[in-house]
Parts: sequence; C-alpha cells; structure tokens
Amino acid sequence: DADMLNVCAVEVAAGEGARVLALAPGRDDGLYEHDGQITKREVRALTLSALSPRRGELLWDIGAGSGSVGIEWMLADPSLRAIAVEAHAERAARIRRNAARFGVPGLAVVEGAAPQALAGLAAPDAVFIGGGGSEDGVMEAAIAGLKPGGRLVANAVTTEMEAVLLSRHAGLGGSLIRIDLARAAPVGTMTGWRPAMPVTQWSWTK
Ligand code: SAH
Repeated sequence: DADMLNVCAVEVAAGEGARVLALAPGRDDGLYEHDGQITKREVRALTLSALSPRRGELLWDIGAGSGSVGIEWMLADPSLRAIAVEAHAERAARIRRNAARFGVPGLAVVEGAAPQALAGLAAPDAVFIGGGGSEDGVMEAAIAGLKPGGRLVANAVTTEMEAVLLSRHAGLGGSLIRIDLARAAPVGTMTGWRPAMPVTQWSWTK
C-alpha cells in the first residue's frame, strides 16, 4: 500500500549507511536491483540530459530493463509520467520493485514486446529506446507514436543496433555521440584504465 511504499522510499533515500538519494541523474547502479541489464550510471546521466524532461511530460522507456531511465525521469519532477515497456516478465516485476524503492510507484509498467506493446499507449513527449530497437517495427512505432516536437533518444551497444542508429541519423539528422568510458581498476599492484563497451547514442527531435 501507499504507506509501505513511502517507507521503502525513505529507506533508499536515507536508510542503511544513511545514503541520501542524489538530486542529479546518474545515481549509483548499486541502488537499483538489476541483473546486469542496466544503463550504467554515467551513460544514464547523459541519457537523461538528452531526454530533457520538462514539466508535465510523458516518457516511453522502451526495453526498460531495471527501469532506471524511467525512474530517473520520474524523479526529476513530480509532474512527470513514464511508461516502462519490458518484454521479459522477471524484469518487468523488478521494474515495479525498483519504482517502489525509489518512491515513484506511479511508473506504469507494460509487460510485453515492442512494437505490439506500444499500441494504444498515450502519445509521449519523449521516447527512450534502451532495448529492442533493432527489432522489426520498433523504431517506426517509436517515431510514429512521438508527439510532434518530441524527443527520441536511443542507445546502442551492439553493432546491429548501431547500424540502425547510423542509418536514422543519415536519414533524419539529429545528433549522434559515442560514449567511450574507462574506469580505473587494479592491474597487479598498480592501476590501469578498464574500457567499458562503447555506447552510441542518437538524439532526434520530431
Ligand atoms: N535502460 C535499461 C536497460 C535496458 S537492457 C536500464 O537502465 O535498466 C535492454 C532491455 O530491453 C532488456 O531488459 C530486454 O529484455 C528488453 N527488450 C529487448 N527487446 C524488447 C522489445 N522488443 N520490447 C520490450 N523490451 C525489449
């Protein structure tokens, strides 16, 4: 119930170890329950910046995984709404738990595969594609569903999805960035840069 959710939200915000939930996007991955399918902290911060939430807007988070992008969209302002679309049943249940933990139980979760699962959803002001974007009809449905003037942001880690984004960028314009991130990690007794897989991000305004 609502009280229970509020208690959970407070625990994430200031519970064990007195961690306080940061106001800026790109919260620690460790705050989320996830199975490895999560947009990493730094990439998530750039993703939310590109999505540019404005008061009262609706987001479709397609291939929502752990729900982290939709959750951080909702955290930006109480007026914001989001629909997380996730094909994998276990992950859809996890998104609901993460939303409750982060104090945004209003995040709508649609369990199903895009593009079919997008049919009948309210038209969004912004769309994020974190998974499924290289599958037939997903990009088309996202672009068709988006309100005129709305923003589309899509991330690719696979070359198949990157090919889709290069082709959309060539055809429609927008902005294309590649995020190459490395993290310092132990190398024997010393430290070296461990590169993460590069992420290609396409942002476009309809
Ligand atoms: N942005 C997410 C991570 C996404 S991982 C986060 O931060 O947690 C990609 C996800 O897309 C996976 O969970 C996968 O199950 C989902 N997916 C793949 N194809 C899909 C489709 N056609 N419709 C809905 N979800 C899909």
